[in-house]
Parts: sequence; structure tokens; C-alpha cells
Amino acid sequence: MTDFDSELSYPDDFDIAPVRLTVDLGALGDNWRQMARRSGTARTAAVVKADAYGLGLEDCGITLYEAGARDFFVAVVQEGMTLRTYAPDARIYVLSGIWPGQERMFFEHDLVPVLASEEQLAFWMSVTSEYGDHPCALQVDTGFNRLGLPLEDAIAFANDVSRPASFSPVLVLSHLHSGDTPSSPLNQKQLSAFQRVAEAFEGIETSLSASAGIFLGPDYHFDLTRPGIALYGGEAVAGVPNPMKPVAKAEARIIQIRDGKKGETVSYGGTYQLSRDSRLAVVSAGYADGYKRALSGSGVPLRKTVAQGGFGFVAGRKVPVIGRITMDLTIFDVTDIPASNIQAGDYVELFGPNVALDDVARAAGTIGYELLTSLGLRYERRYIYPDD
Ligand SMILES: *Cc1c(COP(=O)(O)O)cnc(C)c1O
Repeated sequence: MTDFDSELSYPDDFDIAPVRLTVDLGALGDNWRQMARRSGTARTAAVVKADAYGLGLEDCGITLYEAGARDFFVAVVQEGMTLRTYAPDARIYVLSGIWPGQERMFFEHDLVPVLASEEQLAFWMSVTSEYGDHPCALQVDTGFNRLGLPLEDAIAFANDVSRPASFSPVLVLSHLHSGDTPSSPLNQKQLSAFQRVAEAFEGIETSLSASAGIFLGPDYHFDLTRPGIALYGGEAVAGVPNPMKPVAKAEARIIQIRDGKKGETVSYGGTYQLSRDSRLAVVSAGYADGYKRALSGSGVPLRKTVAQGGFGFVAGRKVPVIGRITMDLTIFDVTDIPASNIQAGDYVELFGPNVALDDVARAAGTIGYELLTSLGLRYERRYIYPDD
């Protein structure tokens, strides 16, 4: 084995990472406070499912707790148990409910199952009759057809005098399917349906709105709002300027800058032909890093419907993806950047303060939620705390 001089130490991983993610926790806290202001008199929860939308449950959970959130939503019980470590006295709701075998997880970590079907209700009744009372929440379907008791069943259940006393939901909730489209009449329809539910469950707290619903105004706020994507800087409402601060910056390192001649082709399939002598930056991110193949500058089906492919930002300029994105590598056209301003080792921003997450998502035919939760395992992460 080579005996390296002790001065030849390992570099800071972040400084040489092929792909890296910077999470601005100050912006995350500010975004939560903004959603709390927009929620008016309602309390504001924080949705941290899927590892806090891919940005890290621990750091994001602590930040949101410190910002003031005391109600959290996770998708599955494992996320709830992890979050409990960082949010000791918060109420943690588990959206997928409870399954046989998980009783102890819910009771020991004080997690609140969100019950969404007759079967889950029946199971919960048997659990509480065996182990004693424990808070639960009830999801009612008002038109999404995803999770929840059918509306009329829920109302009948609310009015059922034989309902066991041990059944004590602390929250009744429903979810809007078109909150991101304020002009959709279906929002009003779901609102009216949920108002009936709220009346039937008088005295129990109610919740209807995720990020988008908060923007629909006070009628939609009820007792508790449930923002997710807006906290992480994503667009909640289509077609209006996004008022949230960017939280995540994804970057990839330039491995090589090469010259391509007019007429040559670029990447798999040779689907992109250079229309001029060009300089190409080859960066170390690909679809394995969640930089979706659909963002390719050519040679993917989406380019026939969405004109523009992906683009990055480097040396003060937007640069387009050219040719197909590959598993580990993506090629950007940097011809318009003066050669002295860019070199191998520099980082190209894939999304962040200079390249809006949702613009990249649109170019991939998807949504910011999917880009964030697809980042993959190779990112070196840096968390910036507000007082750093
Ligand atoms: C994911 C989710 C939310 C948060 O939605 P955003 O659009 O990210 O704000 C709220 N409620 C439920 C039931 C969800 O599944």
C-alpha cells in the first residue's frame, strides 16, 4: 500500500462531489412561517413524507419544529418513528393508516393513524378495545377517489349513536384534487362536501387544504392546514408567480469540456447534430441522479410535445441540455460562455435559485414534487442553518 504523506488528506466531500445538494433551512423556516401567515386563524402543520420531499427528514423536521410546527404528516409509520426523535411533543399523523402488527409502533411512538376505510376503522376499534384509547384521525373522500371513507358513510358514521366511545378522532380530513387550479369548479364542490362532513363531526378539528388549498382563501382553511411542497420551495398553484423561497439547490460537476465540430452528433443515438462548432460541458449527473431522461435535449418522445429540454446554470448563464441524458452523465452546450469563465471541476446548477425547480420539472413533463423525491443516493448534502 502506498504510504501517502500525511499532508495528502481527503478533501471535503462536498467540494469534489459529482452531484451535490444544498438545502437552505433558513428558507424552509421562512416558507413555513409564510404558509402559517397565509393560513390565517388555522393552525399550520408540516408535511414531511418521503424524507421531507427528498430533502432530509432529520434536518427539515428539526427546522420546521423550531419554526413552530407542532402537527406533522408522514406517509408511513417508519417515517413517523424517525420524526418522533426530533419532534418530541408534536402530533404526528400517519397518512397510510395502521396495519396489523404495527400497533406497538403507533402506541410507543405516540403516532396518530389516519384511518381511511371501513376495514381500518374496524381494525382500529379492535385495537383500542384491547390496548386502550389512543388518538386517531379520519380521512373522508370528497371526490379524489384515493383514500377516505365515502362521504355518505362518513356522515352516517358521525351520526351513529352506537359509535363506540373509544373511537375518538382528533382530526377529520379530506384532500383537494384540483387545488392547484383555482378556477376549477371542483374545488367549490369538494369544499361544500367537506363542510357537510365538518358539521356532522361538530367539535372535532377539521383539515382540507394542502399547499395549494391555502391559496384558495379562508373558506378552505378550517382548523389545520397541511402544506408540503410550498415549504420546500415548489410551486403549489399553476400559472402564477411562485411566492416561496427556493430551498434546494442541486449541482453537478463538469468532468470535461470538449470541442465539437459543426455537423457532429452528441450522445446516444446521435439524435442531436451540432449546428455550429461548439463547446460541450459533460457533467456527472444523469437519470440515476433523478435528472430525468425526459429532460434530454433531443431523442426522447417528450421533445415532440414539450419544445424545450432541460437547462442548467453556470458562469452566470442558462445553458441547454443537448442530446440524450445518460445514466451518469449529461451534456450541456456552453459555447456561449467565454472559455476563460468555465473549466472542468466547476459545477452546473441543475435547479435552485437560478433555475426554478418547476421550470425544470415542466421541461421533463413532470412536477417539482417528483424531481425532489427522485434525487437518488449519490448526492453529497450540505445543510445551511439560518445562523450559519
Ligand atoms: C402530500 C399531501 C399533502 C401535502 O401536499 P402538498 O401539495 O405537497 O402541499 C397534504 N395532505 C395529504 C393528504 C397529502 O397526501
